[in-house]
Amino acid sequence: MSRSSYRGRFAPSPTGLLHAGSLATALASWLDAKASQGIWLIRIEDLDTPRLVKGAEQGILQQLAQMGMMSDEGVLYQSERKPQYLEAIHSLNQGRLLYACQCSRKKIAQYIQSHPIPDSQEMVYPGFCRPLEPQICDLDEVNYAIRVRIPKNTIIKGQNLHQEVGDFVILRQDGIFTYQLSVVVDDAAQGVTHIVRGQDLESNTPRQIWLQQQLGLTLPEYLHIPLVVNDSAEKLSKQTKAPIIWPQNSQEALIHLYQAGCHLELGLTKPHVTMTVSEWLNQAVMAWKNRREQRLGFFNTTQ
Ligand code: GLU
Repeated sequence: MSRSSYRGRFAPSPTGLLHAGSLATALASWLDAKASQGIWLIRIEDLDTPRLVKGAEQGILQQLAQMGMMSDEGVLYQSERKPQYLEAIHSLNQGRLLYACQCSRKKIAQYIQSHPIPDSQEMVYPGFCRPLEPQICDLDEVNYAIRVRIPKNTIIKGQNLHQEVGDFVILRQDGIFTYQLSVVVDDAAQGVTHIVRGQDLESNTPRQIWLQQQLGLTLPEYLHIPLVVNDSAEKLSKQTKAPIIWPQNSQEALIHLYQAGCHLELGLTKPHVTMTVSEWLNQAVMAWKNRREQRLGFFNTTQ
C-alpha cells in the first residue's frame, strides 16, 4: 500500500502509565493514521518536570509496543526541544504579542472568584500586567511568566478567545514552556497533518490554532474522541485512580484492545483466543476506515 501525506501522532505526558482512557486515545490516533496509509508518531511531552513520574516514558512505550503500536519514526522528547520553543517565543515577541506577568495564581484566583465570567471554565486572566499598547517584551526578565496578548474579538471555532480564555501563559514563572506553545511548535516541526486526541483537550484547540496563525504555521485537522469515564462518570485519570494497563501476554493485550475498540464504537466481535494482536489491529483499521468514510458515530459529531 502506498504512503499518503498523512502524519499523525500520540503525545502522552509521562505523568503515569497508560490506562483504558489513554489507550483508547492512542489506538484512535494509530487507527486514523493507518486507515489513511499514513505515518504515526509518538511524542513524549515531558516538560512539566514537577509532574513527571520516573520511568513512565519507557513504560508507556513498552505498553504501546505490547499493543502493537510503534512509532514510525524516532520518538521525540519535548525536554530536548527547548531552543525551538524559545525561537517561537522570540518570533511572537517580534510581533509584539507578548508581555511579562508577575501575578500570582492566588491573586488571579481571588479576582476571578469575585468577578466570575459566565460560561467560562477557564481562569481568564484579568489583564493586570497587560500593557496598554502592544510592545516588545524584555525576555531577560526570566523571573516572570510570559503571556500572549489576545486581541479583542478573536473568535476561533466559535470560541471568543479574548473573553473566554484570555491572555494565556506560554512560559511559566518557573521557566517551564507550557503545553499550548510546545504542542504547536512540535506538531509543526513533525509535519503533523492530523491530530486525534481526547475531547478533554478540545477547548484548547482554538488557542493552539491562534498560535499557529501567529507563527505562520500550517493548520492540522483535528478529531476529538469521546472520553472513557468510570462508573461515577469521571474521566479516567491518575486522580480518579484508573487502573494501569499492563498485559502479561498477547491474550490480555487483545482484551484491552478489544475494550478500547468497543469504546471507539468499532463494532468488532470479541477476539477469538487464537487471534494475534496484529490480526486484530488489521481488522480494527478496516472498521475505523468504514466508520470514518460513512461518518458514523462520533465522526459525524466531533470533527
Ligand atoms: N500531552 C497531552 C496529554 O497527555 C496531550 C497532548 C495532545 O494530544 O495535544 O494530555
